[in-house]
Amino acid sequence: MNKNALPELAMEMGFAAAALIETKDIEFVPAFRPLCEENLCGKYGVNYACPPDCGTVEEMKARIRRWPMAVVLQTIWDVDDPMDGKETKPAKGKHNKLTREFINRTGLQGLMVGASGCNLCETCAIVEGKPCRFPELMFSCMSAYCIFVKDMADKCGMEYDYGPNTVALFSMFCFDNEVEGRNL
Ligand code: SF4
Repeated sequence: MNKNALPELAMEMGFAAAALIETKDIEFVPAFRPLCEENLCGKYGVNYACPPDCGTVEEMKARIRRWPMAVVLQTIWDVDDPMDGKETKPAKGKHNKLTREFINRTGLQGLMVGASGCNLCETCAIVEGKPCRFPELMFSCMSAYCIFVKDMADKCGMEYDYGPNTVALFSMFCFDNEVEGRNL
């Protein structure tokens, strides 16, 4: 699939917005890492995809920059309180599921960055001291990567803040520009 067709496919599948970006243009802000340590999402230290187990900010950045291109995916949700996890968690789950379906449709190899930390298992295997059950499918979120999402949204021509009763969720699929020496 030509990379320029990816945003169009995403829109057909129900995303509110989608755009390509070169991963070298994504800003990483190490100062965001302490926000994960506040553990508002409840996944700090209990999920392989989240800090501190996912790796340092530099390691996370290298994981993304290994892929030259990314398609950024956005969904928009009406909520009473964007800070209420009970409202946003189901939306994040749906967004992540749609992102995986999108990646499967592209048929490309790459890296998924989710709208939340990995939620593939009811309880992450890390809690039981066992290896990750789905290492090929597990994904970390934008926050774990310390991605400056507002800056990325601006560069993609997307709105970041839709006002008090709306939340915009973002995910990303990083991929290679070339397949078997052929430019996508
Ligand atoms: S796939 Fe399961 S075990 Fe692996 S990181 Fe995700 S929740 Fe944890």
